[in-house]
Amino acid sequence: MPRKKSRPQLIVLPRNVPAAHERVALPVSERRLSFGDKWSYAPAPEAHDYIKLQKRYPLFIGGKFVAPKSGKYFDSINPATEEKLAEIAEADARDVDLAVKSARKAYKNVWSKMPGRERGKFLFRIARLIQEKSRELAVLETMDGGKTIKESRDIDLPLVAAHFFYYAGWADKLDYAFPGRTARSLGVAGQIIPWNFPLLMAAWKLAPALAAGNTCVLKPAETTSITALHLAEIFQAAELPDGVVNIVTGAGDTGKALVDHSDVDKIAFTGSTSVGKILTQAVAGTKKKLTLELGGKAANIIFEDAPIDQAVEGIISGIYFNQGHVCCAGSRLLVQEGVFPQVIRKLRDRIATLRVGNPLDKNTDIGAINSRMQLAKICELVDSGLKQGAELVQSNAKLPAKGYWYPPSFFTGVTASHRIAQEEIFGPVLSVMTFRTPEEAIERANNTPYGLSAGVWTDKGSKIFKIVNKLRAGVVWANTYNKFDPTSPFGGYKESGFGREGGRHGLLPYVTLN
Ligand code: NAD
Repeated sequence: MPRKKSRPQLIVLPRNVPAAHERVALPVSERRLSFGDKWSYAPAPEAHDYIKLQKRYPLFIGGKFVAPKSGKYFDSINPATEEKLAEIAEADARDVDLAVKSARKAYKNVWSKMPGRERGKFLFRIARLIQEKSRELAVLETMDGGKTIKESRDIDLPLVAAHFFYYAGWADKLDYAFPGRTARSLGVAGQIIPWNFPLLMAAWKLAPALAAGNTCVLKPAETTSITALHLAEIFQAAELPDGVVNIVTGAGDTGKALVDHSDVDKIAFTGSTSVGKILTQAVAGTKKKLTLELGGKAANIIFEDAPIDQAVEGIISGIYFNQGHVCCAGSRLLVQEGVFPQVIRKLRDRIATLRVGNPLDKNTDIGAINSRMQLAKICELVDSGLKQGAELVQSNAKLPAKGYWYPPSFFTGVTASHRIAQEEIFGPVLSVMTFRTPEEAIERANNTPYGLSAGVWTDKGSKIFKIVNKLRAGVVWANTYNKFDPTSPFGGYKESGFGREGGRHGLLPYVTLN
């Protein structure tokens, strides 16, 4: 008997999603629904009653927690509940000046004079303390940022500790990192980070800078400052000399004050391409060195000879990991025409099984969107995709009534000129396109202003090498996706920035070579 074709159903988004937006529900068979009901996991929330949140978080300057000169504080919200977690100090130019002065003093009097092996001991100590506190830090990261506990506990925190361990090992071996050259520290590094991996980005910035003998002023993102301030407690416990790391919290104006400060030697920035461009102009003509880790629009390329089940899992983790809040997310999928129907079918089935909800629940696959603003940005780009004629497939996962959520989704019928094929969505939304030949795949993958990452799925090793050499992307994963390691450099081409973080290469932005 011919099967009745199920028609996509229109559902108005729940009230926490900005108005005037509709979603097309993923048609799910009766059987799947009843299966899901019978066998869905019981909630398994991570305990958080022992977490001690401060009512107000001050700044961390000169080894001490100090109130901001501005006298101002702003709220940090749990994006999964919309509850206020704490108030965070808003640093103004006077506070930034104090932080830079304290970093300069520590550089001159202590850190630049300390032998590398002694600096290394501090980094090892910090790494071990992070390991000891990792469960608590993971819970805080999840509460403040909305990412799932599975990710903060099993991916972020182990990597944070691993970065400090790895760069601790380099502190007394700088002469071997650059054979025949003498590496000298730069001085004071101003470091500005985003909200998608708050502690991991702090580790990416601080660990190599400190190992190379610099002192730091770190500015976390305004929606996720809390864990950086708990990291400051770890610096105190490790007896890191006062002023070696200073933390100033606040939004863009605080970051601008740091970038404009005349006594900063180096600016390291991770964030959006638009702010990266502003920073490039701000440091032009100054003594400041600059590295930028910016946005991306990575292509995941699936060839007909790829192991399809494995590839679909890779696509899932590539785009839905951390709610798609990943600069290197595989947000474009290029599928060779012969396997397109098969891939789409498997993708539809797989997104229907992803659990969206309480990020502290160990079963949750997709947590909360980091902020209301980010949710509005995702909705606006999805709307543009619908208006430009692409077709949206979306999981009909039940979204919690409070908090900021977006269900796992993908677009088919996408053309290269669609905004959803060009602009970074930074949410759990994939744009699927097809190709016929390897040449067409390469051309499509490179057809973006970005060049941060890419993925290739094929059974043939020779094809991997051929394709990878022609992709204009800083990181290319083959038959896997979103794998990170402190020993491996990471960074982009084109509008994804310049400079590398991780590995031996990650030391280079923090030294001059004689
Ligand atoms: P953003 O650029 O708005 O903010 C990043 C940081 O810069 C925040 O701390 C913010 O307060 C600060 N800032 C904002 N305006 C500033 C200014 N004028 N001067 C100085 N500092 C300023 O980006 P976001 O929305 O927080 O983060 C998302 C973006 O970050 C995405 O585009 C993503 O791709 C990118 N990102 C890139 C990487 C990478 O390694 N390439 C990693 C994570 C995130």
